[in-house]
Amino acid sequence: MRCDRCGQEIPEDDAYMHLGETLCEDCYLDVRLEVKACDPWAVHSATRFRENSGLKGTEALTDLHKEIYALVKRKGKVTKEEVIENLNLSEQEMQIQLATLRHCELVKGYKEGEKVYLIPFS
Ligand SMILES: [Zn+2]
Repeated sequence: MRCDRCGQEIPEDDAYMHLGETLCEDCYLDVRLEVKACDPWAVHSATRFRENSGLKGTEALTDLHKEIYALVKRKGKVTKEEVIENLNLSEQEMQIQLATLRHCELVKGYKEGEKVYLIPFS
């Protein structure tokens, strides 16, 4: 069988079902991270956490989060690949960092033609 997202050939044992789609492991993880990243409750709790602890802006984030955010702000818009290259990250690290930056409403995705960019949230 084939992955519905990337078209990669996958052995039946390694296929993941998600909302009627058959996915390879990579795409499945991506989907799960996307779901997490867009989860309004997660956004809410991240914002609440920062309000409650008196943190504003980028204070509650790790240095790596701040570096990514600074890069996005400096460039205005940047592709995920550029961030990975600039900061020497793995694809997976990038996904995890990005999920948090989205939770905290610092960075959002922006589609232009075929490319997806990261831009400052506001
Ligand atoms: Zn796939």
